[in-house]
Amino acid sequence: MDSAKTTQFDLTRLIRENVRNMTPYSSARDEYVSDGSEKVFLDANENPFGDGINRYPDPQQRTLKTELSKLKGVNQDQILLGNGSDEVLDLFFRAFCEPGRDNVITVPPTYGMYSVLASLNNVENRKVLLQRDFTLDLNGIFNVVDENTRMIFLCSPNNPTGNSIPEEQVESLLNRFTGLVILDEAYIDFSGQASWIKDLDRYPNLAVTQTFSKAFGMAGIRLGSCYASREVIAVLNKIKPPYNVNELTQRTALERLKDLERVNEEVEVLRSEREELAGALSALNFVERVYPSDANFILAVVDDANRRYRELLEKGFIVRNRSGQPLCKNSLRFTVGTQEENRRLIAALNDLK
Ligand SMILES: *Cc1c(COP(=O)(O)O)cnc(C)c1O
Repeated sequence: MDSAKTTQFDLTRLIRENVRNMTPYSSARDEYVSDGSEKVFLDANENPFGDGINRYPDPQQRTLKTELSKLKGVNQDQILLGNGSDEVLDLFFRAFCEPGRDNVITVPPTYGMYSVLASLNNVENRKVLLQRDFTLDLNGIFNVVDENTRMIFLCSPNNPTGNSIPEEQVESLLNRFTGLVILDEAYIDFSGQASWIKDLDRYPNLAVTQTFSKAFGMAGIRLGSCYASREVIAVLNKIKPPYNVNELTQRTALERLKDLERVNEEVEVLRSEREELAGALSALNFVERVYPSDANFILAVVDDANRRYRELLEKGFIVRNRSGQPLCKNSLRFTVGTQEENRRLIAALNDLK
């Protein structure tokens, strides 16, 4: 029965009419793709005096996608890259939501950008709180889905709670929901769970986003990625700014992809430091609860979050006070730092009364 429902997914119906009808911008580098041989490029009004960045970057980031496609086990036409995953998420709104008519579902407490992007695009955001154990309220979600619900945003592992969404809940959404399920895996490399990328062939309504900002240690270069069906990626490609990933970013990311050992080592350190930090936090008398985390941060409930935030700040530690979020009363979010930083943090915490 579930698979019968999935067949109701109709991508064409979800695409905004203006997007379906528009002609995309065609750049010089779209119209003539360099084959690598020596040519004289006089087609893009660039400055010919070269220092390596005088030329426009590849609008399709082909070299980078070749590497990512090997790493992730998908075809290149199933990858979209953006100026951070924030740009990728915005493209989803612009491609699939008619402002003033369509709606999306988010499941707070979660990443704040989904809600900001919904407001920016004048798209109603139907919020369905997570349950007290931070899993999905599936009944609540299906109660608010209507014929104008275009997308559901899930974050797994979730920011700021740190938990992964149970596989069977994600599956159940993918099977029953006929819009797009956008699964934000910004923290997937820190979790013990496999990425949903491997399931893209089974679910035409699934799109997975990832980022170079966390495990890859490259928040400064602004590079986010999306993995989905060829058809979904084609729609996003049609509307993306032509040169949205700059040359320096493409080069720097390629270098990092050649040094995955470093990424893996750092992830291992951070995972082990995370457990250290969780243990130390649990031992403090003003910490009431430490949630388990699949990410590179820990959410903890303290006696008085405003007070503890202020005290830590006075000692030179900036953490994130998430108390304003639903289900996060008196909660502080601690990003896992280097071993040295964590030691100093724990010492500072132990000094608090
Ligand atoms: C940090 C984070 C991102 C990363 O966004 P970028 O624009 O790629 O830096 C995406 N989603 C979540 C949930 C995050 O916490």
